[in-house]
Amino acid sequence: MDEIREVALAYYANSSDDTKEVAKNFFNSMDIDGDGKISMNEFEEYVKKKWRRFKPELFAELDKDGDGFLDFEEVIVFYYMAKMRNSFCDGCCGEYLKNLYFTCVHCFQKKSSNQTYDLCLTCYQTKQFTHEHKVFLDNYAMLNFIWSDSKKKVDPNEAIKTMGEGFVVVGDVIQLVSAGQACRIL
Ligand SMILES: [Zn+2]
Ligand SMILES: [Zn+2]
Repeated sequence: MDEIREVALAYYANSSDDTKEVAKNFFNSMDIDGDGKISMNEFEEYVKKKWRRFKPELFAELDKDGDGFLDFEEVIVFYYMAKMRNSFCDGCCGEYLKNLYFTCVHCFQKKSSNQTYDLCLTCYQTKQFTHEHKVFLDNYAMLNFIWSDSKKKVDPNEAIKTMGEGFVVVGDVIQLVSAGQACRIL
């Protein structure tokens, strides 16, 4: 959580006045009784409305000074998590994704679905998930993939076909299982 906290506050420090205003409004929308701090109940109410699930541990992790309330800075961290990152592992653990995670390339590229399928390292590593697609990329690899993909101007639908079943990702290499070939995509 410490890294997420640092990243969120760095974004905030570099953001425009307009963005800071939006963050302030975000805080105010959670602060139902207007006392300038977010209680567990206010937090839970907000999260349940916006997200699929709620875990009380998240509140405890955000509450860095442990006073039982979230102050503005602690909410900024949550704001970043809610707006800029996907939230939970879709594998068996269902935990909040705090570190690097893996995203299904197929679901990511499918424009019709506005939800990605994401796995924490442990669930991906130990295959603790059930999903129809097999190609996953970690965050950094995904960035590079998008970058190289956009340079090639490949039709996303074509890219799915060429990266469909029968391929596995080994490190940063996509491997064609049947033919035993490997091609670097990054
Ligand atoms: Zn998928
Ligand atoms: Zn997981």
